[in-house]
Amino acid sequence: MDTWTVLSSHSALYRHAAPGLQEHLLTVQSRLRALFIEHGTLQRIRQAIARNQWLPPEGWRALQLEEARGLALHAARRVPYYRDLFGRLGVDPLTWRSLDDLHALPELSREDVIEAGTGLLAEGGPLLRFRGSTSGTTGRALAGWRDRASIAFEQAFVERQAAWAGYRPGERRAWLRGDPVVPAHQAGGALWRMNRAENTLLLSSYHLSPANGAAYIEALERFDPVLLQAYPSSVSHLARWLEEHDRVYQGASLRGVVTSSETLSPADRQLIAERFGCRVFDWYGAFERVAAIGTCEHGNYHVLEDYGCVEFEPNGDGSSNLIGTGFGNRSMPLLRYRTDDVVVPADPGYRCPCRRSFRVVERVLGRADDVIRTPDGRHVVMLDWLFTGLFGLLEAQVVQERLNEVRIRIVAGSEFGVAGEQELLARALERLGPRVTIRIERVARIERTRNGKFRQIVSRLSGEQ
Ligand SMILES: [Zn+2]
Repeated sequence: MDTWTVLSSHSALYRHAAPGLQEHLLTVQSRLRALFIEHGTLQRIRQAIARNQWLPPEGWRALQLEEARGLALHAARRVPYYRDLFGRLGVDPLTWRSLDDLHALPELSREDVIEAGTGLLAEGGPLLRFRGSTSGTTGRALAGWRDRASIAFEQAFVERQAAWAGYRPGERRAWLRGDPVVPAHQAGGALWRMNRAENTLLLSSYHLSPANGAAYIEALERFDPVLLQAYPSSVSHLARWLEEHDRVYQGASLRGVVTSSETLSPADRQLIAERFGCRVFDWYGAFERVAAIGTCEHGNYHVLEDYGCVEFEPNGDGSSNLIGTGFGNRSMPLLRYRTDDVVVPADPGYRCPCRRSFRVVERVLGRADDVIRTPDGRHVVMLDWLFTGLFGLLEAQVVQERLNEVRIRIVAGSEFGVAGEQELLARALERLGPRVTIRIERVARIERTRNGKFRQIVSRLSGEQ
C-alpha cells in the first residue's frame, strides 16, 4: 500500500481520526501527491493542449495519426500482447499513412483485456506503476495500470475542463463526489472537511438526505467556491432540495458546476443550472482512459480529439458505441478498445460557436448495460424522464428483479405524497407496459457502488433471460 492510501480518506487511520486530524491528513496527502506528479510532463502537456484545442480538423487529425503511430510502435516493441498480435497480422505501424491503418486493427474488448492480463503491460518500466480496478458491478473487474506520466496526462485534461468552466488554479473549489471524507458511522456534526493544500471543501456524498439539505447548502454558501465538482446524482439531489424549498443557491462566486462519472440527464442538467445559477459542464471519461468528452462554454459536448482517437460505431438508432485509442498511458496501451458507453453524435456538419473544431455529440447516454428489459422484448434505457418535474422527489432508482417485476426505490421529502407516487406509477406503467408489476418503495437512502457511484438502473436479470 502506498503512502497516500494510508493517509487517504479510504484508510483505517483516517476513519478513526478526529475531524481536525482528518483535515491534516487530507492536506498532507495532497502535498505528497503534488511532489509525486511529474511536473515537467504536466507542464508540457498543459501547454500543448492549451494550443491543441484550437486546431482545425486537419490539424488534430495529423496529430492523431502521429500519436497513434507512436503508440502502436511502442506497443509493437514493448507490449507482449501487441507484439504477438502484430506479428500474426503482419502489422507494421511504421508504414501507417492515415488513421484508416489504425482502424484496420481488430477491436479490443473488455474480455480481451481481462484475458490478456499482464500481457498488456509494457516491459522495461517505468518502475513506479499503480494498479487500479473497476468496481466489477457488472461482471469481472478489469485491472488498469498507470504511471506518473499517465497520471499527469489525465490531470492536464481535467484541468483544461475546469478552465472551460471558468476556474483558475488555486481558487476555491468544492468537491461532492465518492470520497468517504466523513466516516459512515458519523451521524451529526460537519459533513464536510477542508483540504487546505488544494483550497478545496470536500463534502460527503454518502450523507445527503432530505433532512440535511439546508446544512449542505449553507456550508457551500459560506465557503463560496468558484467551482463545484460533483457526481450528477449528488448535485441534482441538492438542486431538487432547493426546488422543493423554493430557494436558489446564494453563493456569489460560483462560475460552474462540473459533473462526471455518472450519466447526467438533460433535465437534471437544467435543474442544476437553474437552482445553482451557473453553467453546468459535464465530463465523460472511462476507467480504461481511451476516450474523453468535455463540455465547452456553449454547453456542447466535444470529443477531446487530442486525448485519443475516438470512433463512433453506429447502433442503427442514431446512437453509437464508443471505441477509443487513448494517447496517455504507455504503461498499458489500449488500441481500439470497445467501451460499454453509448453517445448520440451531432450532425457532422454542425459547428460549435466556441470555434473549437472537435467533433460534437448531442448526448452521452451512458452505459449500454444499464437497461430495463420488458416481457415484450424491449430494452428501455435512461429512465430519467420518469422522475422529471416530480416535486419533492430527491433520488430514484429502478431495480429489475424479474422480467415482469420492477421496484422503484425513492428518497423523497415531505412534499412528495400519494399524488406524486400515483403519477410516478402511471408514467412507469405507460413506459414499461401492463405486464410488468411495479412497486414503489420509500427508502431513507440509496446505496452507492464501491466507488460511491449512483446507479439509476440496477438489473438483477442474468444475461440469458
Ligand atoms: Zn464548443
